[in-house]
Formats: sequence, C-alpha cells, structure tokens
Amino acid sequence: MTKIRCPHCGSPVTVRGRWWECGWCGDCGQLGSLHPSERAKLNDLRGGQAAAEKPEDREEQPGT
Ligand SMILES: [Zn+2]
Repeated sequence: MTKIRCPHCGSPVTVRGRWWECGWCGDCGQLGSLHPSERAKLNDLRGGQAAAEKPEDREEQPGT
C-alpha cells in the first residue's frame, strides 16, 4: 500500500481531505506543501481506490 510520508520526519502521514497530518511529529499542512513525489503517490492512491471500486468479476470465467 502506498504511504504518503511527512516532509518533516519521513513518517507515514494521515490524509484528511486536502490536508495531511503526521502522527509522529505532529506536523500538518495542505497536500500542496508535500514533495512532488509524495503528491504523485497521492494521485496513485486515489486512482487505485477508484479502480478498486469497480467490480472485476467478469474475468476468470471458470470452465470453458
Ligand atoms: Zn512528521
């Protein structure tokens, strides 16, 4: 699972809406203040969640 890391201490942060919160050092801020690489991960996370919501049971037909 992709983790967004705190730019301050490098610990995984909790993302709340447009903000992130670090449980380790207590730092927080807008997502826009994260490193570009972390923001890219965030896009991956959102994309992954959207994809996970899709039912993908039409593949793997048993038999045939
Ligand atoms: Zn931190």
